Amino acid sequence: MNNNDFSPNKGDNDTELLANYYRNIIELLGEDTNREGLLKTPMRVAKAMQFMTSGYKEDPEAIIKSAMFHEEYHQMVIVKDIDFYSMCEHHMLPFFGKAHVAYIPRKHITGLSKIARVVDVFARRLQIQERFTTQIKECIQNTLNPLGVMVVVEAQHMCMQMRGVQKQHSITTTSDFTGAFEAEKTREEFINLIKNK
Ligand SMILES: [Zn+2]
Repeated sequence: MNNNDFSPNKGDNDTELLANYYRNIIELLGEDTNREGLLKTPMRVAKAMQFMTSGYKEDPEAIIKSAMFHEEYHQMVIVKDIDFYSMCEHHMLPFFGKAHVAYIPRKHITGLSKIARVVDVFARRLQIQERFTTQIKECIQNTLNPLGVMVVVEAQHMCMQMRGVQKQHSITTTSDFTGAFEAEKTREEFINLIKNK
């Protein structure tokens, strides 16, 4: 399914509705929505927000299942430095950074680009970093049934940088793992490989 693939009638209607709400929000924030530069802003924001939450309309497990191959390979497969952009569900402000995924195949592997797509699907929803990390892990565990999977996410949160504590450039790291990654040695191997820039 395409990221912009909203059903035509309902989709247009939703976009109009959203744009109207944003018009009200902008007015309440003290702006004049009839000002030239703002005339098309409500519609632009509506479309941008629909894109940034388009992950609700996609099935991440189906993405992996669409490219699953039988393979007798039992070494660690690593996809590192997957850029992602998400929005925290508490402030609806961006958090973004890099996701690193490793798994050890049992019987099946998947296309490397599919892992990046799964990251995108979960990122394009209202999220918290911890759940985002766990959802990626579970999606891979449930589909490929590997000997183990581990996900590490490093992110900067605009809700920390632009407001409140204003801790500039602090990075939040989360990780989650299953199976073979319960062994510290295996986790270390993965961590060392993603540290090596
Ligand atoms: Zn937040």
